[in-house]
Amino acid sequence: MTDTAFSALPLPATLLDTLQQLEYEQMTPIQAQAIPLALEGRDLIAQAKTGSGKTAAFGIGLLLRIKPVMFRVQSLVLCPTRELSTQVAKELRRLARFQPNLKIVTLCGGQPIGPQIGSLEHGAHVVVGTPGRIEDHLRKGTLHLDAVKTLVLDEADRMLDMGFIDAIEGIIGHIPPARQTLLFSATYPDQIRDLSTRFQKDPMEVSVETVHTHNQIEQLRYPVSNKEKSSALLKLLGHHRPGSCLVFCNTKQQCADVSEYLRQSGYSASALHGDMDQKDRDQALIQFANGSCLTLVATDVAARGLDINNLAAVVNYDLPHNAETYVHRIGRTGRAGKEGLALSLYGDREGHKIKAIEDYFKQHMTIGELHTLNQNSVPLVPEMTTLCIAGGRKDKVRPGDILGALTGEAGIDGGEVGKIDILDRVAFVAIRIQSAKTALGRLINGKIKGRKFKVRPL
Ligand code: AMP
Repeated sequence: MTDTAFSALPLPATLLDTLQQLEYEQMTPIQAQAIPLALEGRDLIAQAKTGSGKTAAFGIGLLLRIKPVMFRVQSLVLCPTRELSTQVAKELRRLARFQPNLKIVTLCGGQPIGPQIGSLEHGAHVVVGTPGRIEDHLRKGTLHLDAVKTLVLDEADRMLDMGFIDAIEGIIGHIPPARQTLLFSATYPDQIRDLSTRFQKDPMEVSVETVHTHNQIEQLRYPVSNKEKSSALLKLLGHHRPGSCLVFCNTKQQCADVSEYLRQSGYSASALHGDMDQKDRDQALIQFANGSCLTLVATDVAARGLDINNLAAVVNYDLPHNAETYVHRIGRTGRAGKEGLALSLYGDREGHKIKAIEDYFKQHMTIGELHTLNQNSVPLVPEMTTLCIAGGRKDKVRPGDILGALTGEAGIDGGEVGKIDILDRVAFVAIRIQSAKTALGRLINGKIKGRKFKVRPL
């Protein structure tokens, strides 16, 4: 046993079993620093990004403090976006398997408020959500925070960037001062210090270096004129053939145009930006994360905090306005010891941006030459496709039920089934393309958990 093994912590055996089932054996660096302090009840200010294991870093202590017999909100996690809230709630639910009957509710904007009120009436132990919607519930009197013992501010810097400071202050006013406050932030601007000074008690600081160094990510820049940009993107994708690629644009319109152009050129591509409705954003993300779409064209805001990493490549179709955003964007490629690839297109008026990035990394970026790239390759096609099932968490559909329905008698090999995502009223399952027709037939004609659900390919 090493001192970063979860088993070295004073955790209940049931939780250790759950961690083992999840195949979490060693703590990540942020977990090793944060969990022991969080278990002592200390306030924390932690520098950690998505992908560092931060949810478990705050989640384990938070879940252990909950009294399941008391049907009151005992923990509140504030997140900047709905996507991050969903992701955090998902991870907390996984960790909470050791503690049956623990209810975790997400409260985010962009969704009807009625069902949220219903969920709260049934009694929730943990609420994860965005500040605006939490405020709405406080105003309506449908949410009470007077029993909250743990408050988490996740991606606090993003919440401040997005103008949530007043909402956060208002919300904290509803929470008793005798609480534990955990503040997670990727950066430490003065505003974060200020927030900490006002709302935390003697916080301990923990931080781990998560920004990748240039050694793990090959960074290439390509000078292009504006009108050559889209054909340059095709050349980059055609030559490097990344299995998964995030393309960044600076505007929503550019994002929509580029993804449409890629689709017309035979690439599997989706857009992700703030003007899309929530349903389309969910679907784009799910298809990208489960391998049935290979290229996601996103804005920075839409891509913030998403649990999509280990990407084969990141392309800056538009260079970001500052070096920090560049570092954040390219940090999604080359994780977990793999080589990453970051490709940037830029115009002749953007030399100052390149300089800022080179200054940041203290080295020159290699200039790539578009005309030397292999021009004649056929676009990569995804190996997976997604089926959509009209039943979700609220219909008591679980991943095991869908897997069971597919792999049951005379069924499909489990290896053909990919990621399963369960939302409130809908579920998505990734299937290898060659088995998709059979899978669809089985799901349409068969039953899931003894019930019939509508199923369609996405
Ligand atoms: P997060 O930074 O919380 O979004 O976590 C990133 C990913 O790492 C999630 O998919 C977690 O399920 C996973 N994870 C978190 N902690 C561990 C651990 N100690 N060992 C293995 N995987 C982990």
